[in-house]
Amino acid sequence: MKAAIILQPKQIALQELPLPEPAPGELLIRVMASGICGTDVHIFLGEYLGSYPIIPGHEFGGVIEQVGSAVTRFKVGDRVAVEPNLPCDNCVNCLNNRQNFCLNWQAVGVTRPGGMAQFVSVPEKAVFSIGDLPFEQGAFMEPLSCVLHGLERLNLAVASKVLLLGAGPIGLLLMQGLRLNGAAEVVVVDKNPDRAALAQSLGADRSLTSLEELEQDAFDAVVDATGAVAVMSRTPDFARPGGKVLLFGVPASGQKMTVEAFPIFRKGLTMLSSYTSLRNSYQALSLLKSRQISVERLISHRLPLEELQRGIELIEKGSEPVYKVMILPNG
Ligand SMILES: [Zn+2]
Ligand SMILES: [Zn+2]
Repeated sequence: MKAAIILQPKQIALQELPLPEPAPGELLIRVMASGICGTDVHIFLGEYLGSYPIIPGHEFGGVIEQVGSAVTRFKVGDRVAVEPNLPCDNCVNCLNNRQNFCLNWQAVGVTRPGGMAQFVSVPEKAVFSIGDLPFEQGAFMEPLSCVLHGLERLNLAVASKVLLLGAGPIGLLLMQGLRLNGAAEVVVVDKNPDRAALAQSLGADRSLTSLEELEQDAFDAVVDATGAVAVMSRTPDFARPGGKVLLFGVPASGQKMTVEAFPIFRKGLTMLSSYTSLRNSYQALSLLKSRQISVERLISHRLPLEELQRGIELIEKGSEPVYKVMILPNG
């Protein structure tokens, strides 16, 4: 099979590898659509957890090609998506329902081979049936799960007025999720005019390209989906007294955020973050299947496996309108 391997930071090679042999509890999946995530960009740049060499790709959908002898819930030909995080189910965090902080955490596409290959073998517990959902939409199960966990953390009150910073693929999923959570008004800011316009057409009440036009102390909740520390440091300014801030975007590790501390005290703000997801896969698939969350317009590029590096660079540079880039390893 063909696989794209990050050999070391900033170096990707396309290699011909033997077909993985699934262990008794694993399934071999023929990967049909594999989304590039910001995390893959961080792994490519050497800014994130992850050991090298690694076949990246943790957001994908495909067809079961082969089942291990101990697999009980799936058969060859089933259409599936993969939840990449693999908790041990046995450590203190797992046993307290904090599986996202598992002490023995493994993840498909981060610590073990991922979906940027024609085939990948994954444990049965990571696999979810997508029915007749298109593979590309199945590939959104994982990022949408993370978004749903963030929304659970935020626990938005009905009829809230929300400010959302960043309208990339994750921001646009958050925006739809905030709507489902009963937000009365969602204002979106993205410095890129294409993104601001797409946010508007996907349901934002107002979209802006600059923070400077925003009213201070005005929002029940402020959500950052940029991961840019300069933007994150501004979030408390826009929250109303007693309001909430959710820092959702992933900053580069090592960066410091400078915030004036006094207003957080004076306004009694609730400052929240969100790390990956916590058993949100079924919810994510339900929202995709019922079309409560729509992702078609979030896909801007479809590329063959050979062009993974170009796809990552497109996202990194952001010089042309780019949202979710799908790699199609099997054409
Ligand atoms: Zn991801
Ligand atoms: Zn654990």
